[in-house]
Amino acid sequence: MGRTRLVAANWKMYKTVAEAAEFGARLRNELADPAPVEGVVCAPFTTLAAVGPALAGSPYLLGAQNLHWEAQGAFTGEISGPQLADLGCRFVIVGHSERRQYFHETDAGVRLKLQAAYRHGLRPILCIGETGPEREAGRTEAVLLGQLRGALDGLEPGQAALLTVAYEPVWAIGSGVPATAPDAQAAAALIRGHLSASFGREAAGEARIQYGGSVKPDNLAEFVAQPDIDGALVGGASLRADSFAALLRAAAAGS
Ligand code: PEP
Repeated sequence: MGRTRLVAANWKMYKTVAEAAEFGARLRNELADPAPVEGVVCAPFTTLAAVGPALAGSPYLLGAQNLHWEAQGAFTGEISGPQLADLGCRFVIVGHSERRQYFHETDAGVRLKLQAAYRHGLRPILCIGETGPEREAGRTEAVLLGQLRGALDGLEPGQAALLTVAYEPVWAIGSGVPATAPDAQAAAALIRGHLSASFGREAAGEARIQYGGSVKPDNLAEFVAQPDIDGALVGGASLRADSFAALLRAAAAGS
């Protein structure tokens, strides 16, 4: 398989510039001997210019939480792919459930953003996941496949190989109640199967699939022990440098 595990921090709308820079300095101290996994810090736009230099020279990369699909234009309040690349971003989260829920992002909009990320050299982390009522209604698979089709339509196999899909059941985000590892694995296998059917086995074998939703340093190892789970997208437990470092170490378990 040979996929490098990927732990991505999603800071959401937390941290001032000073707090973000302090995180970077602390993270470097925490990890004199870095874990053999990839780490990405998806920071708020306002802190990217501070976090980038703080991570420079470390094995950890900078990411953003959203982008606009156009490169530039009259889109007040938006941020484009070239602007993110200019700040050193290498990854960008696309289609997080909070954006779908509170900012009415649709699968079609998510697809435009995903394509813009590739155009501007950013590796997308595509978030998909069912809500609690959808799960209770037995619609998990249909929801996940619908979100995948909507976002990935028109992608090239070479782009699919660079994709990360974060399976994030909406009911598990910030709730303290994660999915079980076997349930997360079932979703990850469904996702990889869809990637294989759409883009070929090779691309599907290279794409990474994360689990997200109430991941903590003490439960991450059981998720990455699953054959199709290659890391995690983490909100709350990624906000402190010592906790993020512990997540990176936990993700390396058994690798
Ligand atoms: C997230 O924000 O994507 C997330 C998974 O949050 P938390 O880890 O806090 O559940």
